[in-house]
Amino acid sequence: MKRAFLAALTLTLLAGPAWAQSPPPSPADIDAATQAWIATMGADAIARSNSYFEGKYWIGYAGAALTVAVCALLLVPGWFAGVRGWLEKTLKLKFLVAWGAALAFLLVLSVLTFPFDYWVFFVREHQYGISNQAFGPWLGEYLTNAGLNLVLFPLFLAILYFFVRVAKDAWWVWASAVTALFFAVIVAAAPVFISPLFNTYTPMQEGPLKADILQMAQANGVPAENVFVYDESRQSHRVSANVSGLLGTTRISLADNLLNRVSPEGVRMVTGHEIGHYVLGHVWSLIVALSLFAGALYACVHYAFKAIAKNERWGVRGLSDPAGLPLAFALFVAFAAIATPINNTIIRFHEHQADIYGVNASRAPDGFAETALLLSEYRKMHPSPLEEWFFYDHPSGYTRIHMAMQWKAHEMAAGRLPQSPLGPPDGYKPAFVVTDSAD
Ligand SMILES: [Zn+2]
Repeated sequence: MKRAFLAALTLTLLAGPAWAQSPPPSPADIDAATQAWIATMGADAIARSNSYFEGKYWIGYAGAALTVAVCALLLVPGWFAGVRGWLEKTLKLKFLVAWGAALAFLLVLSVLTFPFDYWVFFVREHQYGISNQAFGPWLGEYLTNAGLNLVLFPLFLAILYFFVRVAKDAWWVWASAVTALFFAVIVAAAPVFISPLFNTYTPMQEGPLKADILQMAQANGVPAENVFVYDESRQSHRVSANVSGLLGTTRISLADNLLNRVSPEGVRMVTGHEIGHYVLGHVWSLIVALSLFAGALYACVHYAFKAIAKNERWGVRGLSDPAGLPLAFALFVAFAAIATPINNTIIRFHEHQADIYGVNASRAPDGFAETALLLSEYRKMHPSPLEEWFFYDHPSGYTRIHMAMQWKAHEMAAGRLPQSPLGPPDGYKPAFVVTDSAD
């Protein structure tokens, strides 16, 4: 009898609310709290954020159109067939010819698209006050990135051409598998070989926040012994974090901007999000999903190429001839541009999962709202649902704050969270760095 009473008491203690319960929230309360958080931005910040992000809609398509134009320039006068002819005479081996053609093509593409990139990634980022990096270091990083591409992609394209020659009409199935392998190698190598080219990674300073983060990681089964901080302030004001690597190289890294600009609650929430990516195996599922997506694009390229380049047009003998690379590449870019919402939705789906994981792991909904507001410096807060589906590779700030407030309201109603107002604290102002576009 006594034992049964104790058991009942224990159950009550385990299941019972720790704080006062409240009536279930209404959807209108949650909407109003979300709007109240967004209103703390002020009209100017909202307008600037919208203008910056909406500009990128057409910039994405203009970039694709520019690439297609460069491809046409190389292809139509038969210049690229000339390049392939010269390579065949000098390099002989088919693999090397494909590699040389890919290198020449990417080199020309990089040079001709540089002015556009300079405007998008340097001038515009400064106009909107997002970056404060000087031109010299910016150019250095741009060239490092371009050099890396010139090392990796010609090799990748030469391997694809090998499968076009060997597997014929089924090449795109093999190419999808090669893409998965390439993704995996790059993801595994990134923390060790690639990221250090752009930023310095140091172990996070010892202290209560680091101890708190490591406890949360280990509570969620992440075998993290350390958290890294990288000097993103070198490039921009952006607050960010990531989980990178694969197998032995996996690690959680936080930007110095995040630690400097966001409260411990916000840092906990962001880290919870990254832990979510890790626990849910997102690196693997993204590699699989994006490689299948790439496979579908390769198949589109295959059929479109055959339809356009039959009868040796522009000196191209067929799909296996590297002289047709500008055409194949232009088709890939065009199909990828059309499929933008599919790519975005694959990624956004994973990000949404990490968000809900993060808020459950960190139990910091206000920290989530605070961070979502800072991300408005480079992402429009409140798009239409169609706009979000089409252009967003992460949930919008509105979606994220709404989710955080919904979580908070229901947890408070259940008594699992102390009562506090839904929405921002009185007089709350987001810690924006970007305040003027004049500098
Ligand atoms: Zn994420």
